[in-house]
Amino acid sequence: MTTHVFHRTPVRPAIATEARGIEITDETGKVYIDGSGGAAVSCIGHGDMRVVEAIAKQAATVEYAHTGAFTSPPAEELAEVLCNATTLPMARVFLVGSGSEAVETAVKMARGYHLARGDEGRFRVIARRQSYHGNTLGALARGGNFGRRAPYLPMMTEAHLVDPCFEYRHALPGETPETYGRRAADSLEAEILRLGPETVSAFLVETVVGATTGAVPPAPGYFARIREICDRHGILLIADEVMCGVNRCGPFFAIEDEGVCPDIVTLGKGLGGGYQPIAAAMCTAAVHDAFSDVGRSFINGHTYMAHPVACAAALAVQQVIRDDGLAERVAPMGTYLKQRLEARFGNHPYVGDIRGQGLFQAIEIVADRNSKTPFPATEAMASRIFAACRDIGLLCYPGSGTADGTIGDHLLVAPPYSVTTAEIDTIVERLGDGVDAGLAQAG
Ligand code: PLP
Repeated sequence: MTTHVFHRTPVRPAIATEARGIEITDETGKVYIDGSGGAAVSCIGHGDMRVVEAIAKQAATVEYAHTGAFTSPPAEELAEVLCNATTLPMARVFLVGSGSEAVETAVKMARGYHLARGDEGRFRVIARRQSYHGNTLGALARGGNFGRRAPYLPMMTEAHLVDPCFEYRHALPGETPETYGRRAADSLEAEILRLGPETVSAFLVETVVGATTGAVPPAPGYFARIREICDRHGILLIADEVMCGVNRCGPFFAIEDEGVCPDIVTLGKGLGGGYQPIAAAMCTAAVHDAFSDVGRSFINGHTYMAHPVACAAALAVQQVIRDDGLAERVAPMGTYLKQRLEARFGNHPYVGDIRGQGLFQAIEIVADRNSKTPFPATEAMASRIFAACRDIGLLCYPGSGTADGTIGDHLLVAPPYSVTTAEIDTIVERLGDGVDAGLAQAG
């Protein structure tokens, strides 16, 4: 078959013809178990008719009305649902079409906040190495995923990147998780002082790191220290929960478990659960009121922001999560998934780490468990294992940092919250076979 689609891969991928529950079928009739919900997107499973009907109903009512003149019932209702879903005191929701737009919105919102308060010198955004915040040039420039940034480096504004918080890779021998977390957090303060606090607008951080290093949770006390540092220097804290939010790790936002409140938080994938492209940046009343107190507009917007059909889909997805008690399933099913991964890979000679929170888990592949040495980049181990898993009917999400020498290969497992124990057993069994098949092909 010839194709006129400019695919992201050199070879045309399989054609998806049906998606139901946790399964996707391709044009040859082959059925795959969607073990990572794409990139941690599918949270209620595929083909839920309750969402399909909500989409159809909204499309038949108002399919689109420009946000310069109109809001819509689903946008208003969705914003209220989201503010009520989290224990964080979030007061406003800016609705956009993708996680990258949500991150761009968040960093502009932070800058707008400082401007509205007359603090015009603050424009710099500090982020972390080994973090990903999106693929648009602005979001890519902020993030620390070196592989994805590399081709576009000459086009990017300067990045200010501090240490990640990744115990397995960066804690020193003898360091407790708490002392390591504090040391990692303190690298933020050192950078703020180096740049000049009066020039720094925000710190942008994934609560649980997703695409770059694979389900890496923060060390205990890390975020409390980060909040303290941001407050000391008048800097806004932006938690990027595009991947780890919306109950993926258990609570609505993963940062709720850290006992700190960010000023802005982004969410995406699990918001629309794949039924429509939708994401958001939520902020506290203090951030929003800085604009309204001085009668300022937030100069930002997209043609398809707060799209009524996307908002109706997200509302329906969030309703399904509530009606089916899916958020409550994440912790026990996540524990079961972790146990199965530990049983299968705990003694595996090439699995160095098993980590994650809730239904956001990953295994890290290493050439040597003791030294944690990764496989060379030329082995493309994560991609190789991904392909082996796909061949035996499992989709998982690969990631590799071996090219820049900082981290190894990982495979992310992030099934829908509706996943059953039997499905988890199948996912782990196929992942085990895929890892062994991928390793067997290595040079
Ligand atoms: N932020 C994080 C933490 C992500 O994981 C991603 C995507 O993986 C993004 C932002 C970008 O989202 P999108 O691909 O929807 O633009």
